[in-house]
Amino acid sequence: MSTLTRLTFPRLVARALLRRCPWCAGKKAWFRSWFRRYDRCRTCGLRWNRGQDGFELGAMTVAVVITGGSVMLFLSISIAVSYPDFEVVPMALIGAVIALVMPVLTYPFTQTLWSAFDLRVHPPTRDEFLPDTPVELLPAALTEAEEARAVKATDMWASPSGQGENPS
Ligand SMILES: [Zn+2]
Repeated sequence: MSTLTRLTFPRLVARALLRRCPWCAGKKAWFRSWFRRYDRCRTCGLRWNRGQDGFELGAMTVAVVITGGSVMLFLSISIAVSYPDFEVVPMALIGAVIALVMPVLTYPFTQTLWSAFDLRVHPPTRDEFLPDTPVELLPAALTEAEEARAVKATDMWASPSGQGENPS
């Protein structure tokens, strides 16, 4: 049975929406508090930032989509409900409050959702986990072909110089 087959994208996203590690479903994931995280998942040891340049930009993109989408949704519904006599100033103020509050409320979910997207397109290899990671949490069921593809994808993401990526 392949780990990748079991870890479908909806399943990764469902775990992310529960603020869990998308890989192992660990409740604490990387989080130390709402806004602070450790480098590695506290259950499976998988690093959040998987060594790619600009990895954080993915989480920022998720935040922009969620916040921008919420403001657009609010404005669309407000205009539709009150048309043609909508009040511009209260709508703009409420929209501004949403734009300020949403990034705070959704911060950890932007981290877990980005990780879920990344794990789907870029499956982890065994060497991304800690030596004492329990074997059932390792991507041990990957076939050799899947593992080779995952390693290739990692090489593609690595910086062109290739320095500092491989401690071996
Ligand atoms: Zn984990």
